[in-house]
Amino acid sequence: MSRFWSDIVHRLTPYVPGEQPALAHPVKLNTNENPYPPSPRVVEAIRRELGEDGASLRKYPDPTARALRETVAKHHGLRVEQVFAGNGSDEVLAHAFQALLKHDKPIRFPDITYSFYPVYAQLYGVEYETVPLNSDFAIDVDDYRAPSGGVLLPNPNAPTGRALPLSEIEVLLKANPDAPVIIDEAYVDFGAESAVNLIDTYPNLLVVQTTSKARSLAGMRVGFAFGDPALIEALTRVKDSFNSYPLDRLAQAAALASYGDQAWFEDSCAKVVSSREKLIAQLQASGFDVVPSAANFVFARHSAHDAATLAAALKTREIFVRHFKLPRIDQHLRISIGTPSECDALVAALGEILA
Ligand SMILES: *Cc1c(COP(=O)(O)O)cnc(C)c1O
Repeated sequence: MSRFWSDIVHRLTPYVPGEQPALAHPVKLNTNENPYPPSPRVVEAIRRELGEDGASLRKYPDPTARALRETVAKHHGLRVEQVFAGNGSDEVLAHAFQALLKHDKPIRFPDITYSFYPVYAQLYGVEYETVPLNSDFAIDVDDYRAPSGGVLLPNPNAPTGRALPLSEIEVLLKANPDAPVIIDEAYVDFGAESAVNLIDTYPNLLVVQTTSKARSLAGMRVGFAFGDPALIEALTRVKDSFNSYPLDRLAQAAALASYGDQAWFEDSCAKVVSSREKLIAQLQASGFDVVPSAANFVFARHSAHDAATLAAALKTREIFVRHFKLPRIDQHLRISIGTPSECDALVAALGEILA
């Protein structure tokens, strides 16, 4: 604390990201990173952009990320004016709070959801109400019918992994024609249905996606928003009042190349999904209740063992999982899907700990 701090800094409770352990070979199942390296085309594209001597780095990148946005627009059957690119979807979401969610009425999001949402609300002075998930940790869209300043949901939800069918997202959009509805699709590629195709029908829909999870590019920081050109313009106005060049040259080249390798993408998602299904069965066999997951992680509680104690015991074996000390979920662990050998190491360690 310091007398030089602004009033707002005094009042902030920042988001705490999952630990990035400084160990040679941790089994890192705590931040939902993809266990597989990105497409080889991504690595080639970064090398090409860098060239022999890195001369391209002298120059600022394209401030509009035009080539990347065109590629991603084409990938989703959108027009380039319907695509916004940001430095990770966290930045895209931050801009959305300022550009689209700050109105007279409070916004609404689930009580158990991505814990960055309340942090952005606080940073930007956006009032919010949380809406309890039902007892199965499912979202009931009928709970989002009251007028609000906006609705924000991840689909699949985090940290539960549960997905809503597209028909329910459409019910939500129909019930909220006068408020922005933001669907955060960070995990959509692991088993949920994207709302991207509803964009032409619903001018209040903003879909947010990232290259961090299914495209293995968490280290590059590239995320997107898709929506009506007027919503995209709002985000662009905030971006151009904040940082004109949020996406560096290597990030733009890497993300663009990733969309050119559909075979890699489908194969790596399929591997994660198959490991997830195997891990769910193994966790259930050792006494865990597991929430049905459409994501690259599972959310599980043991009937007889305290979650924080389990997480600590795993950590002594250099296996990292995420435990949230929050109401309703402090007996759950969120476990990212690793490679088959990382999942096996987790199951073996749990076998010892639970014995
Ligand atoms: C990981 C995650 C993000 C952030 O992704 P970045 O693009 O890496 O900033 C956004 N929303 C949810 C729900 C996430 O889990």
